[in-house]
Amino acid sequence: MTEETISQIATPQGTGGIGIIRVSGADALRIARTVFRPIRGTLGEIAPYTARYGNIVAADGTIIDEGILLYMRAPHSYTGEDTVELQCHGGTIVLREVLLRTWETGARPAEAGEFTKRAFLNGRLDLARADGVMELIAAKSARAAHAARERMAGALSEKITAIRRRLLGAIARIEAGIDFPEDDIPAVQNAALREDIIAAADAVRRLLMGAEAGRILREGVKTVIVGRPNVGKSSLLNALVGTERAIVTDVPGTTRDVIEEEISVEGIPLRLLDTAGLRVAEDAVERIGVARTKQHLADAELVLAVFDSSSALTDEDREILKRLRTMNADTIILCNKEDCASVLRATDFDGMNAPVLMISAHAGTGMDVLRETIAARVRMMEGDLSDGALPNKEREVQTLRRALGHLDEAERTLAADMGSDFVSIDLRAAYDILGEILGETLDTDLIDRIFSEFCIGK
Ligand code: GDP
Ligand code: ZN
Repeated sequence: MTEETISQIATPQGTGGIGIIRVSGADALRIARTVFRPIRGTLGEIAPYTARYGNIVAADGTIIDEGILLYMRAPHSYTGEDTVELQCHGGTIVLREVLLRTWETGARPAEAGEFTKRAFLNGRLDLARADGVMELIAAKSARAAHAARERMAGALSEKITAIRRRLLGAIARIEAGIDFPEDDIPAVQNAALREDIIAAADAVRRLLMGAEAGRILREGVKTVIVGRPNVGKSSLLNALVGTERAIVTDVPGTTRDVIEEEISVEGIPLRLLDTAGLRVAEDAVERIGVARTKQHLADAELVLAVFDSSSALTDEDREILKRLRTMNADTIILCNKEDCASVLRATDFDGMNAPVLMISAHAGTGMDVLRETIAARVRMMEGDLSDGALPNKEREVQTLRRALGHLDEAERTLAADMGSDFVSIDLRAAYDILGEILGETLDTDLIDRIFSEFCIGK
């Protein structure tokens, strides 16, 4: 493809000691020869990956600035094209003048992200890695920078590629099978195929869990405290927060609105919400509180269900347990006030599939175990965080979900013995969809849109 040569200021807006103008494309060296006059020799003989000291000159020969020229030859440059960098003084005006000079002599302004887009189009990096470059630039915490570097190094790309390779293997298996007469397709073949599909689906699921983990680390685990009035919800919040933040009272139903605190449990950020309870409310304000509680429960990631261990379960307690059973949030059951005569037993919560802990929000007993239990549960939610293959774009998450849909479908089709060519269709679809994360199977409009969100000069 014949690409125009592009140029742009690569260093940040504003003044600095040095500013860099990057020129990329087939004409880069010719443009450099026109605008740059080395102090010694000519640019005709410049070897790639060397620097020259000289002047940047206007059309009439007057000097705009002095600086250093760097030449990187295609295909071994960031963009994969001939690239020249002009290092000038980092003033807004002087940089603008040098930039205009490159435009005068044949380059055109580079669009946002266009250098990286060219690198992508020239096969220097895939889309997931390109995203990593942009994330590294945008990173505002050491943790974010670390994740970006992993992505740049290909952590996500390699995972996706491995899954696709497995899918190709499965497709090949089917194709080999189709050539056999009906009763010759060995059962082992089917078992192997099933194994491939399940492994691919699991790998996609793990990536999606990673995405969730990334979000949790950014926003905190939404943790909702529920329980009927007076069981000690506010006291528990205070005990976890370590201050007298929520109002503790003997009058049931006082926490009418939702109180939210951010805490850190073993380094895991939690958004802790003390709710109004779920009892049938008498006044309007309380009814709003109950409605909010239901809403918060619906999108809770972790639920701390509090009960008063000094009395038997009430209808209201059972109502809450019933609701929790219909939800898929992780739940920890807490029998509070264990300092009083304890009536409740763990067996009262049979069928809840949740750990039951005896605590006293007042005395502080059981709080360490509670913290450990919370941390362990969240780590389970997080999956494996250490490999850096965290899909973090909504686009990537949607793509993975679509691919998973096809893999699940393939598995169902295979189990129902509905014909391996149908399985093959879904496997191919999943293969293509996963390719979108690498940018392989995306159409150009979408590619353009993705890169246009990148920054100017990169
Ligand atoms: P909420 O309505 O569920 O938020 O309950 P509160 O936290 O307001 O507490 C209700 C009552 O129970 C208050 O009088 C607290 O002092 C008391 N309480 C809370 N936790 C404990 C505990 O661990 N032991 C005892 N004995 N009383 C507690
Ligand atoms: Zn309360």
